[in-house]
Amino acid sequence: MSNAVAAPYKVVIGLEVHVQLLTQSKLFCGCSTKFGLPANSSTCPVCLGMPGALPVMNQRAFELSLKAALALNCEIADFTKWDRKNYYYPDLPKNFQISQYDLPFSSNGFLEIEMPGGTKRVGIIRAHLEEDAGKSLHDESGSGQDSRVDLNRAGTPLLEIVSQPELDSGEEARLYLEELRLLLKELGISDCEMQEGSLRCDANINLHISQPDGAVAATPIVEVKNLNSFRAVERAMKYEADRQYEQFQKDGKKLGEVAKATAGWDEARGVTLVQRRKEEASDYRYFPEPDLVPVRVSPETLSQARANLGELPSACRARLEKDFGLGRYDASVLTKLGKDLVQYYEATARKSKDPKAVCNWVTNQVLNTLNEKSLNIGEFPLPAEILAGLVNEVQETGLNMQRAREVYTRMLETREDARQAIEKLGFKVVGDVGQITEIVRKAIGANPKAVADFKKGKTKAADAIKGAVMRETKGMAKMEVVQEIVMAELAKTPEVS
Ligand code: ZN
Ligand code: MN
Repeated sequence: MSNAVAAPYKVVIGLEVHVQLLTQSKLFCGCSTKFGLPANSSTCPVCLGMPGALPVMNQRAFELSLKAALALNCEIADFTKWDRKNYYYPDLPKNFQISQYDLPFSSNGFLEIEMPGGTKRVGIIRAHLEEDAGKSLHDESGSGQDSRVDLNRAGTPLLEIVSQPELDSGEEARLYLEELRLLLKELGISDCEMQEGSLRCDANINLHISQPDGAVAATPIVEVKNLNSFRAVERAMKYEADRQYEQFQKDGKKLGEVAKATAGWDEARGVTLVQRRKEEASDYRYFPEPDLVPVRVSPETLSQARANLGELPSACRARLEKDFGLGRYDASVLTKLGKDLVQYYEATARKSKDPKAVCNWVTNQVLNTLNEKSLNIGEFPLPAEILAGLVNEVQETGLNMQRAREVYTRMLETREDARQAIEKLGFKVVGDVGQITEIVRKAIGANPKAVADFKKGKTKAADAIKGAVMRETKGMAKMEVVQEIVMAELAKTPEVS
């Protein structure tokens, strides 16, 4: 993503993410939140907005959102209330959404994301709870004759998470979203299925452009909606930044006076379409919801929620680095695979002599097998100690990766352990010292340049000799034995000059 030539502007992106909480029932009534039920079957007077129906807060929804806010390092308000956000839309029978306006239950947090250059802390302005609207089902024939509404989703609990405008590229926006999804999934707060709409993202974007006179001009903020995948977020941000810069070059500073706008993302065409002036908060005539009592969060509730938080992805990465000596990149890749795979990794790494090699096996071969066979790690045929046995055999015997993969494939089919599978495949390991010594001497004779370099103090030059021996033995000699003999024989070899 990094261009050799720096862009003549700074991109400023803030994300507004809505996630559906993993509750059985809706936020203010007992209707099921299950996805895919027949249209309008999961409704009642409360979520249909019938006169006189009274909402009651779902305790579980509040607990889950509290958990999310703590994981996002937010300050939790001890007193929080509900507000009505008024607007008219066919999927909103009450003509208002119950949300939180001036007293959200949490604010002022942060999320750390792993960038190629290091860790970046992205501020979280607030996270608040609100109810979802229904869904308009528009006629897809194009005649516009038949639009319907499904209110199953009306009243589903949503957590709205608003970041600071601190993301400065489409790539960073995507990484932020990926980290947020990982966090929310791992803690059981939301399933974050973008396809089912349980994670939705709107992005606010504008540019700060340095002027020749030293002033900084800002383009009008555009809120891009309908971003249905991580890739869409990245692409849309890139497109919109280019579009705003082009527009700025045409219009110059006039743009500063144009009101905020809303745009849609057209995935097929890969363009943003600016639609209308964006509403201001005052357009919604917020006022306190009279039918719900405010929520008080006691210090006990808070400390209990903190205690039950579980391990955050950032902590998991740090632990994998510390306990297994993995680099930041490997620790990140593993953590992204989720708790269950991390646990399998740990169990395997503990029984092996090479945690880094185990990481490669888990993130490559094991993951491929799971994907190919649509298995979860609980159904994976090789228990941790069996995979560790393979990793150890490979290390000790110096089996090359191609051979090792053949062994692995056989083990998956036969459930043999590594030693049995290697034997059955006829991969006879050369362990005889005399035989290896002979091969080493030949390799030394055939590589005078490496020998000379070694004698000059380049210890790395011994690798060329070892490589030659491994080739000669077709990768079947014990690496440790080869290592030892190569060093001994090199010491005995006189300097050639
Ligand atoms: Zn209901
Ligand atoms: Mn919202």
